[in-house]
Amino acid sequence: MPAAPRDTTLALDAEAFRQAGHDLVDQVAAFLETLGDRRVTAASAPDALRELIDADAPIPEAGTEAGPLLRETADRLLEHSLFNGHPQFYGYITSSPAPIGILGDLLASAVNQNVGAWRLSPLATEIEAQAVRWIADLLGFPRDAGGLFVSGGNMANITAFLAARVAAAGHEVHREGAQAAPQPLAVYASSETHTWLHKAASLSGVGTDAVRWIGVDATGRLDLVALRAAMARDREAGVRPLMVIGTAGTVSTGVVDPLRELATLCRDTGAWFHVDGAYGAFAAAVPGAHDDLAGMAHADSVAVDPHKWLYAPLEAGCVLVRDASILRRTYSHDPAYYQFGTDQLNYHDYGPQNSRGFRALKVWLALRQMGRAGYVQLIGEDIRLAAHLHARVAADPAFEAATHSLSITTFRYVPTDLRATIATPETAAYLDRLNRDLVERVQASGEAFVSNAIVAGRYMLRACIVNFNTTQAHVEALPAILARHGRDADTALRGT
Ligand SMILES: *Cc1c(COP(=O)(O)O)cnc(C)c1O
Repeated sequence: MPAAPRDTTLALDAEAFRQAGHDLVDQVAAFLETLGDRRVTAASAPDALRELIDADAPIPEAGTEAGPLLRETADRLLEHSLFNGHPQFYGYITSSPAPIGILGDLLASAVNQNVGAWRLSPLATEIEAQAVRWIADLLGFPRDAGGLFVSGGNMANITAFLAARVAAAGHEVHREGAQAAPQPLAVYASSETHTWLHKAASLSGVGTDAVRWIGVDATGRLDLVALRAAMARDREAGVRPLMVIGTAGTVSTGVVDPLRELATLCRDTGAWFHVDGAYGAFAAAVPGAHDDLAGMAHADSVAVDPHKWLYAPLEAGCVLVRDASILRRTYSHDPAYYQFGTDQLNYHDYGPQNSRGFRALKVWLALRQMGRAGYVQLIGEDIRLAAHLHARVAADPAFEAATHSLSITTFRYVPTDLRATIATPETAAYLDRLNRDLVERVQASGEAFVSNAIVAGRYMLRACIVNFNTTQAHVEALPAILARHGRDADTALRGT
């Protein structure tokens, strides 16, 4: 062994770490303080970004000093990113990041726990288990349910789907595989279900053909009559109804399926009941937010997304399964090279991951910082702001309001001279085109960021508020911003 100490470049001595860390925290704090004065995005061209990092350069032969490297990288990221924490960010369902979560990720990296096994992460495992119980508390789900953190809503849904398949397929599917099924399987979900279901059906071997995409009523809720008919048809044909999926807040318009009725139907038919609550589940904690969310408590499994309505920085998803032993049956294989014992909770037995990071910490910290009451207030405010936006655009002659559910509002820009002919196919097609252009323009401007939804076949602007930085004043400023880009788009298209 060399007698001299090893090169400590990567290790960073204490003073260098302290200096670089303090500088970075100062930069981030200044960024958070000025976020509202910035543009939502610089909308930099792809070529400019590649040039900025010299994208085609080979891996550097020699290294770079850590402090200046971090400073330069932070400068560039804080200039060229899209800020979903910006008060005028209303796109998709991406929340503003809780600052305690930002710091929590730093702490989680520093202790660097492998939360695959209790022995490797004693306190971290206990903290994750507590965070899972607190999430169950927020949803009204049993506290002794199985559950764990995963990367996001997709993985939470897929993790539950695979468990449902083991529990309800009617044969030893985890050993024998999908092809050994005595009966073909079918899965039922509304046509508004998020595309995770395509991935789950194809990855699980159940196959996307087995998904029965059930129609929705005029408000976008799964049609129970159509569901019952589809299940009866399948049973008649010797197909086994494996599971029914309800959504607690669709990604597009925030619609909540009739979860109570779905729970009853599944209890009566023996099908597994899964709820995709990636967006809306946490609204169950808010009194009066949505009556149907109470049905979630009767599900066999629920997927939730703390990086949405718990405002955790990406990534944090969480899956809950009422009967924890089903997660073990699905995911535990007891290899000879692990001796972690069976007396404590080893999360690698409960999900697809082996080595696991300490995602739970940022969520647990925010739950402690805010408490239930704090989250009830923040989520409730997001919902009220979305309702306020809906009322504002409904009262504004430049807009037509479409939907409001949970914290998603949809509407479109309508030039005043076209209001009279709004229902004609020509005007309808033109309004689709115009609002599509409007979205491109406003996104590129960096003044605000909205996305879109298709509602009853028409292209709508869509604003989703999962953002504690957004205030009533920001919401009230939005229609004027959108109307200005709408007028510009209309002028460009019609030359008026
Ligand atoms: C966001 C969302 C998902 C996917 O979650 P990710 O965190 O993006 O993986 C699935 N379903 C619904 C209803 C969602 O809103």
